[in-house]
Amino acid sequence: MAPTFFQHRLADPQWLRLAATALALGILLAGEAPWPRRAARRRQRWAANIALLMFSALLLALLPVASLGVAAWAQAHGLGLLSAWRPPRGAEIALSVVALDLAMYWNHRLMHGPDWLWRLHRVHHSDVEFDATTALRFHPFELLAALLWKWAAIVLLGASPLAVLVYESIAGVYALFVHANLHLPARLDRALRPLFVTPDLHRVHHSTAFDEGNCNFGTIFSCWDRCFRSHRAQPRQPHAAMPIGLDHFRDAEAQRLRAMLVQPWRAP
Ligand SMILES: [Zn+2]
Repeated sequence: MAPTFFQHRLADPQWLRLAATALALGILLAGEAPWPRRAARRRQRWAANIALLMFSALLLALLPVASLGVAAWAQAHGLGLLSAWRPPRGAEIALSVVALDLAMYWNHRLMHGPDWLWRLHRVHHSDVEFDATTALRFHPFELLAALLWKWAAIVLLGASPLAVLVYESIAGVYALFVHANLHLPARLDRALRPLFVTPDLHRVHHSTAFDEGNCNFGTIFSCWDRCFRSHRAQPRQPHAAMPIGLDHFRDAEAQRLRAMLVQPWRAP
């Protein structure tokens, strides 16, 4: 018997990944209220950031290919380092998660480089506050550029569809966590930092100060910033008071959906 619509949707791992992301967003936003790191403006920013995500997701849904399809294609053609080496399943997944996080470290670092890439990425940085919804705020063209970069990494690596699904699920949830306006207990923050990015580490990257914004590009693992000399432990100002965002895009108009979509073509 053919599966019903809901059985079909539940069996779709991409749908499950989206559901996990929505659940994580709800949990983090609920946690930000009693344990905030900063006093944050919420309602208007939340609406704009969620609207931008919906717009970008609808546009990207028009693409005929997804990451899992790219992984399946590469695997079927025996492409990539891992298909030549064939490690055990667990090792293959772990290596893929680490390698794809490294690839996305360089993707992020590159977005801070040439002017035309920075103009796309600065839509993310123009959020004047920093909470879990900031992780949703990306221009659709930046998401497209990141997808193409990730697909190239998947093919070079020969990551399996399962490994890509595990990586995308972890990275999606972890990106929400590192943007959360959460005051982690100092001991937990200290314990995570040697291996993992924490909200305090990533908040430094959203500083209005140029030198602080050019640090802490990592998403999951903090070691890439240490290896490639872009690590900064703390901002100059206290976390609760440090200015966040971009000097040129601070007014209410710049925070609206339409303004964010055309921002890459706006001066400066
Ligand atoms: Zn950035």
